[in-house]
Amino acid sequence: MFEKILIANRGEIALRIQRACREMGIKTVVVHSEADKDAKYVKLADESVCIGPAQSAQSYLSMPAIISAAEVTDAEAIHPGYGFLSENADFAERVEKSGFVFIGPRPDSIRMMGDKVSAKQAMIRAGVPCVPGSDGALSDDPKEIIQTARKVGYPVIIKAAGGGGGRGMRVVHTEAALLNAVAMTKTEAGTAFGNPEVYMEKYLENPRHVEIQVLADEHKQAVWLGERDCSMQRRHQKVIEEAPAPGIPRKLIEKIGDRCAEACRKIGYRGAGTFEFLYENGEFYFIEMNTRVQVEHPVTEMITGIDIVQEQIRIACGEKLRFRQRDIMLSGHAIECRINAEDPFKFTPSPGRITGWHPPGGPGIRVDSHAYAGYYVPPHYDSMVGKVIAYGATREQAIRRMQIALSEMVVEGILTNIPLHRELMVDARFIEGGTNIHYLEQKLAHKPDLPKDGALGAKSDTKADAKADQ
Ligand code: ADP
Repeated sequence: MFEKILIANRGEIALRIQRACREMGIKTVVVHSEADKDAKYVKLADESVCIGPAQSAQSYLSMPAIISAAEVTDAEAIHPGYGFLSENADFAERVEKSGFVFIGPRPDSIRMMGDKVSAKQAMIRAGVPCVPGSDGALSDDPKEIIQTARKVGYPVIIKAAGGGGGRGMRVVHTEAALLNAVAMTKTEAGTAFGNPEVYMEKYLENPRHVEIQVLADEHKQAVWLGERDCSMQRRHQKVIEEAPAPGIPRKLIEKIGDRCAEACRKIGYRGAGTFEFLYENGEFYFIEMNTRVQVEHPVTEMITGIDIVQEQIRIACGEKLRFRQRDIMLSGHAIECRINAEDPFKFTPSPGRITGWHPPGGPGIRVDSHAYAGYYVPPHYDSMVGKVIAYGATREQAIRRMQIALSEMVVEGILTNIPLHRELMVDARFIEGGTNIHYLEQKLAHKPDLPKDGALGAKSDTKADAKADQ
């Protein structure tokens, strides 16, 4: 096992990784920007290195700064967390070339999944069902584009191959709007992602977002750890996640889960990963794969008893998975509320000093957060300040426990979205289960005095920095 791991991230996930390392008896090096120098997990680390100013481009996104920090501290492996450089194949490659272990997939897997066109093609080859659409990237030939859209059937969605974080997508309802939408998405994709390639999919009108967590080792063993329902979204940002997904027949989930594990074996995937699907009318449609740990991983940990971060570390060390599919038992229900430093209904960021912090507790409650009373939420990064996870034997119990947890929780000095979560936990449709990806935005649109959002808007600026997690 490794003796020392460098954590190349910040906030709650830096603390989460640190906890996994400490439990495993591994020393930690935390790198941080000047803005994060007072974070508690920085003080708890065996070593810490300041890698630059607050701006992430010069700190958390600076490959040379992070690799030098690993060199001077003699760390053996680098855990990238989520966001920042976690899905950057060039970074993974540079880490390995510099003689360190990248705690994540092989660079070529990251590259393949980072390009959504090649990811879809790989999934089709591996027998994973995808959203019907163009075969690969769209050509420049207008006639061909029109033909493809007619074949797929309106409405269609034009998506950037290099897109991410809910950006680079455009829905088209009529042939008259098609060519212009393709041209605009291409131009935007070229500027935003450095890759003008776009592709077309059938636009599913009322899907749910259901994803499958996988773990795969270097020895071609792969398992799936159940599913998560992340349909409660705003601007394609997940707000609440839960496991299992309510109301979907187990047989369907098992079939898709087995396909995902099989796909991992076929493509030689290594590490933790998530296959994201849209689910509509009893069918699953693959949309993308995330090649890293996700924000919502705790709900899976709660219902499986498996520590996903520790497994990532074991896999990176070359160990064999310690369990087979038949050993994975799902039990109970878990719900996660992302706590953001923002106005609960207007969604404007609310960085600043937390003057009071009373996290909830009690049976089945887990709080993953780096915040504390006196902590200053810097304005430079993602607004998430923590996650409250409630576990129960049943979904009803998990919801009840979450309601109690949210009623106990007090955060003073900044605004948070806790009031929104309190409303959602007593929302009749949420309690019923199975709401689709538009539900939250539709609910918000009916609230008086709130700014109205488009369904496919861009992310807020603070989020764009860290590309949190979709
Ligand atoms: P990103 O990498 O930017 O998160 P995804 O491909 O995962 O992009 O899509 C993000 C979200 O966009 C999905 O969760 C869903 O809400 C919406 N979306 C993407 N593709 C489709 C589609 N074919 N039909 C309907 N909604 C879609």
